[in-house]
Amino acid sequence: MKKIVFATSNPNKVKEVKELLNNQFEIIGLDDIGCHEDIPETQPTIKGNALQKARYVVKNYGVNCFAEDTGLEIESLNMEPGVYSARYAGEQRNSEDNMNLVLEKLKNKDSRAARFKTVVALIIDGEEFTFEGIVNGKIAYEKSGKDGFGYDPIFLPENQLISFAEMESAEKNKISHRGRAVRKLIQWLFNRNHS
Ligand code: IMP
Repeated sequence: MKKIVFATSNPNKVKEVKELLNNQFEIIGLDDIGCHEDIPETQPTIKGNALQKARYVVKNYGVNCFAEDTGLEIESLNMEPGVYSARYAGEQRNSEDNMNLVLEKLKNKDSRAARFKTVVALIIDGEEFTFEGIVNGKIAYEKSGKDGFGYDPIFLPENQLISFAEMESAEKNKISHRGRAVRKLIQWLFNRNHS
């Protein structure tokens, strides 16, 4: 089985992506290559951050890898929190605080339309490729569900009656931003191995 480094220290993302790779590729984590430091994410865009993380790992560890960055974009908040999704309510990077702030800011807004956007950045043999995944939906009036992570309890994907946090992870993966971006990555890797 082919091995590939996934440059993230977020165990929730590793779990989701492992399920998506479905034994076609084995993921190696940052721990496995001895990378224990915080990787900088200081770019003004989601794509910029994904590339920054992947480039950091390639430069310092000399491995092919992919990284991803995700943001929640809410239309009536001028696409906030976007690239600031992790620290929207402060440097404590707490999901409950972040969700409470979103719910508070949307109190008097008519539109609750939102989307999650993921960019996966792959660097392989010095070449860079990016894959984007988007899921449209809306922000619920209150949190529901115990699965998932981050903003999942307040995100209702379009055409669904339940939040991401109420879904089994396989169900979320089928329609999610990360699922869509990672399936593009897998297809690309598969085509490369068979060309
Ligand atoms: P990052 O991509 O790790 O920087 O994540 C940005 C923020 O979005 C963090 O607060 C994450 O918890 C949140 N986030 C990332 N992916 C998801 C997801 O699939 N569902 C809900 N929240 C997410």
